[in-house]
Amino acid sequence: MSIACLNGEWQAIEDTRVSVLDRGFMFGDGVYEVIPVYRGRIFGEDEHLSRLNRSLGELHLTAPMSDDAWRALFREAIQRGAEQDAIIYVQVTRGVARTRSHAHPEVEPTVLVTLTAMPDRKTIRPLSVMTKEDIRWGRGDIKVVSLAANGLLRNEAMADGYDDAVLIRDGKVTETTSSNVFVVKDGVIVTPPLSRFLLPGVTREQVITLVKQNCMRCEERDLDKSELYAADEIWISSTTYTIRPIGKVDDQPIGNGQAGPVYQKVYQLFQQKIHAVGSTVSVDGLYK
Ligand code: PLP
Repeated sequence: MSIACLNGEWQAIEDTRVSVLDRGFMFGDGVYEVIPVYRGRIFGEDEHLSRLNRSLGELHLTAPMSDDAWRALFREAIQRGAEQDAIIYVQVTRGVARTRSHAHPEVEPTVLVTLTAMPDRKTIRPLSVMTKEDIRWGRGDIKVVSLAANGLLRNEAMADGYDDAVLIRDGKVTETTSSNVFVVKDGVIVTPPLSRFLLPGVTREQVITLVKQNCMRCEERDLDKSELYAADEIWISSTTYTIRPIGKVDDQPIGNGQAGPVYQKVYQLFQQKIHAVGSTVSVDGLYK
């Protein structure tokens, strides 16, 4: 069951209303976080909370509650929603302001937490992506609610028959419209380094940790657009996808167009991490 908590009030998600004067609606002035729940337990909670706090700080928004209060709210959402596998969505905007002004108003933030069933992700059909110029603002490292450019780029790619766009800034790969990018070449896994142009994906970090723990070579370095075409494998990572293979970039197949052997190994390892439930202790720092 889907459930929402708006400013401390639990309600049905479809009945939840925010004022038209909310800065999130008027200015896209807010941040969000997407947190997975597997078998009733949150995966990567510390990492998601730390990114949420960072995003809030970068937008000069005061954290509306402590980490412990967030944790309690998430647990209540899991209990009320009664879904085994779910997505918790957190949105914090600057709040409701009577006067429309670019100057930040002194108001209470709007805090929304929702829980919905995890979308079915059984299929791992390789996706196709087209390269597109990264036209987004220069702070892709903040998880802001204003996703107009990401949506525009995704839809332009879809109109050309692709699933998504892989974004290129100054000749280098940044990310896709909603995930981080990994390339495999000659057994080495490469992902672009963190910068202000891409989101520090929680899944990206989990994958890097996992492959290193399993003695695979992983480099964080700039990736030229040309390295996409020459790759043996490409995958993308995000909370909602976990890891998905890319079978085609522009009109160029990647490998044989199917999920490659390194992908398959890392995917299995990642699934094991996700489903390492039943333990109350951290497993290799990933599952809490
Ligand atoms: N990059 C962008 C632009 C995203 O929107 C997302 C997730 O929504 C990611 C990367 C992946 O981040 P995470 O693994 O934390 O879900």
